[in-house]
Amino acid sequence: MDANRRKALQMTVSRTMRALEQNNMKAAYVETREDALKLVRSLIPEGSTTSSGGSVTLAECGIMDYLKEKTDYIDRNMPGIDEDEARRLVARMYVSDWFLSSANAITQHGEIYQVDGRSNRISCLVFGPRKVIIVAGVNKIVPDLRAAVERVKHTAAPANCIRLSCDTFCTKSGVCISPSFDESDLMCHADCGQGTICCNTLIMKRQREKDRVTVILVGEDLGY
Ligand code: SF4
Repeated sequence: MDANRRKALQMTVSRTMRALEQNNMKAAYVETREDALKLVRSLIPEGSTTSSGGSVTLAECGIMDYLKEKTDYIDRNMPGIDEDEARRLVARMYVSDWFLSSANAITQHGEIYQVDGRSNRISCLVFGPRKVIIVAGVNKIVPDLRAAVERVKHTAAPANCIRLSCDTFCTKSGVCISPSFDESDLMCHADCGQGTICCNTLIMKRQREKDRVTVILVGEDLGY
């Protein structure tokens, strides 16, 4: 990246980290995905009980492999399990030591914006697991909540729906059925499809429990 763009990006990252810290979250910056993995390994001792939301970013950083190989990882996506067993696993996730996720968008005001279908991911982010780590590439930083909504509609949700083969409008077209920002119709549209992943929206802002949440920003484009 050009030195001037790098400098502008660093200022954006610093502003975002300060805002996250004002909202009682810890914030860290690392240059590369390898550094992100090193930091996660230093925070989560081997053998800890861990769980996560589905995340391309965590996989790209090698963090999913670390969780599965070196920790007591609760995997609610284990193949062959029925709905009741999945619910029991989610109940165990709520009492895990660590929960990891990425973000759909992070605003420069220190808000973390998440959209979820089944919604065990967004529920664990706000209550249950003792500690939460959110890993996100700098491509997830947006100016404000309006841009966060647009990021989900234009980028994150269509790509994730295609990845998961969801029965939705965007899986077939590559764009959201209601791509424009509309305060009266923020998220899921009635005709979007049965497989929608835009059912519930979470905005994480000021946290009551200081430093329960750590946000690791990575100086690369990661995930969707
Ligand atoms: S609302 Fe529906 S069509 Fe739009 S991005 Fe979400 S899943 Fe895709």
